[in-house]
Amino acid sequence: MSDIQINKQRKYNWNMVVILTLIPLIGVFGTGIYVYYNGIVWQEPVMMFIYWFLSGMGITMGYHRLFSHKAYKTNSFVEWVLMIFGSTALENTILKWSSDHRLHHTKAETEDDPYSITQGFWHAHIGWIVKNAPDDKTKVRGVKDLQKKSAVKFQNKYYYHIGIIVGFIIPMAIGFIYGRPLGALLWAGFLRLAIVHHATFFINSLCHYVGRRTYDFKSTARDSWIVSWFTFGEGYHNYHHKFQWDYRNGVKWFAYDPSKWIINGLSYFGITYDLKKVKEHVIMQNHFNSIRTQLTEKFNKSTKSCKVFYQSKVDRLHQKADSLFISWDEMELRYNNMVENGKAKNRTLLKELKNERRQYRAQLNKIKRNLNTIMFDIQKNRLRPELSA
Ligand SMILES: [Zn+2]
Ligand SMILES: [Zn+2]
Repeated sequence: MSDIQINKQRKYNWNMVVILTLIPLIGVFGTGIYVYYNGIVWQEPVMMFIYWFLSGMGITMGYHRLFSHKAYKTNSFVEWVLMIFGSTALENTILKWSSDHRLHHTKAETEDDPYSITQGFWHAHIGWIVKNAPDDKTKVRGVKDLQKKSAVKFQNKYYYHIGIIVGFIIPMAIGFIYGRPLGALLWAGFLRLAIVHHATFFINSLCHYVGRRTYDFKSTARDSWIVSWFTFGEGYHNYHHKFQWDYRNGVKWFAYDPSKWIINGLSYFGITYDLKKVKEHVIMQNHFNSIRTQLTEKFNKSTKSCKVFYQSKVDRLHQKADSLFISWDEMELRYNNMVENGKAKNRTLLKELKNERRQYRAQLNKIKRNLNTIMFDIQKNRLRPELSA
């Protein structure tokens, strides 16, 4: 019976199709036509960027890292602020967004992943939103922990009111002040919303398509610094899928991830706390595992002579790396014990710890460079006898 109902159901939700077609059309062409006839005043692009930043932050810092992943904690005032700006992105309520997103992680690349890349780029990007799905796939689940939050409860009642008042009417009111309400509405309302929408959609599509698989070679999620530039740091998606509860997506200090910098910055004032972070050696170990999988794949495609020449070298390098990881882990455990015993504030001990970490890092980086050189050589079917293991 239910199968018959599903078959009778239209494939597309036409209301969604119209809305998601009109927003970018009005945003891009409407703003373009307006500019052609009325020119540009500085307030409009400035307001567009500020609004883009605020609604983008509402999604990345709020919907994603705080509510969906609980990667850090904050007070309810910040939760309210993030809820309000997140609502202006018009990407559904925190509960629905988090429900879908948690499934995207736990059921990644299966039928239960709402925006699974295995169903194609288009489906992962926007298709899953404009298509009608069976009821059991659209219901909100696995978000009981969020339901009691005051910001979440309020948003559930007034989601559209907040999104439209803060996202469209307030920019228009600001536009009234300088005499161009329509210009303000087009720039900060429609154009901004089109950019925010597709930037988020690209995380589900492009970030499962383009980039490196640095920490988990078997995942479809990729790390792309380019995508990070227009998604407030969310482009490091391979790392994020491997360590979804880390408050950082761009884990290297220089990786463009403003959400990470703001969450970290606020922690110095006690506004954010309990920031979750994966230990450096665990991250590095996963990087080595990814290299190991890549090398196995490359060996399978390489010539027999290449395999004979490099296999033992690669094995030796991995054994060396494995024993370094064991020692590093033991050292970290010793340090944890010191923290528990209240000795970790001892400056000499801390200095020693930093030195030991530096040494492990240097040795492992050397091994990594050798493994990468070997990988490059295997790809080119080149035998390089001078390489030291
Ligand atoms: Zn993903
Ligand atoms: Zn996530």
